[in-house]
Amino acid sequence: MNIILLGAPGSGKGTQSIILNKKLGLVQLSTGEIIRENIEKKTKLGLQVKNLVDNGEFVSDEIILSIISKRISEDDCSKGFILDGFPRNLNQASKFDEILLEKDKKIDFVIELNVSKENLYKRIENRAIESNEARADDKEEILKNRLNIYDEQTKPLVPYYKKAELHFEVDGMKSIDEISLEIEKIIKVKN
Ligand code: AMP
Repeated sequence: MNIILLGAPGSGKGTQSIILNKKLGLVQLSTGEIIRENIEKKTKLGLQVKNLVDNGEFVSDEIILSIISKRISEDDCSKGFILDGFPRNLNQASKFDEILLEKDKKIDFVIELNVSKENLYKRIENRAIESNEARADDKEEILKNRLNIYDEQTKPLVPYYKKAELHFEVDGMKSIDEISLEIEKIIKVKN
C-alpha cells in the first residue's frame, strides 16, 4: 500500500508517518529529511540546495523527482511507502504519476491533514522552542513564507487528487491518537 500524506508544514505529517511505519511497516519517505541529511553531510546536493531550504523555498522539481524516483525503486519500498512532503506542486504530482506508471506502481490513498493557520503557527513556534536548535527554516518570517507557498503551490493538489478519487481528509487538530485511528479507518474501509 502506498500513501501520500498531504498537509502544511507543522500539520503532523511526520508524526503520522512514523505511526504508520510502526503499525503497517510502510517505509517513511520524507523528502525534507533526505534533503536535511544531505545538507548535514555537506554532499554536493546538500551544498546546492542549502540556501533555498534555509529560506523556506522549494528545491527544484528535477532534483526532488530524481530523489523520489530512485528511492521508491529500492527493495524496502516494495512493501509500500508513505510520502511525507512530496509531491508539493502540480508539476511534481503529474511527473510522479508518470514515474509510477513506468514502475508499475500506484498510490492508494492521499490523506490530507487539515489544520488551521493559527494552529500551525503555534505548533511550529513550539517546535522551535522545544528543540533548542530551531530548524533554520522554522523562523517566523520564513514560516510565513512556507505557509504561503503551501497555499499557492501545494493546495491545488487537493482537487487534483479528488479528481483521481484518491483524496481523503482528516481533521488534523484532533489528538495524535484520534488522527491515527481516523487514518486507519480510511485505509481499512477501502481495502
Ligand atoms: P519538510 O521537512 O517537508 O518541511 O521540507 C523541508 C524543506 O525541504 C522544504 O521547505 C523545501 O525547501 C525542501 N523540500 C522538501 N520536500 C520538497 C518537495 N517535494 N519539493 C520541493 N522542496 C522540498
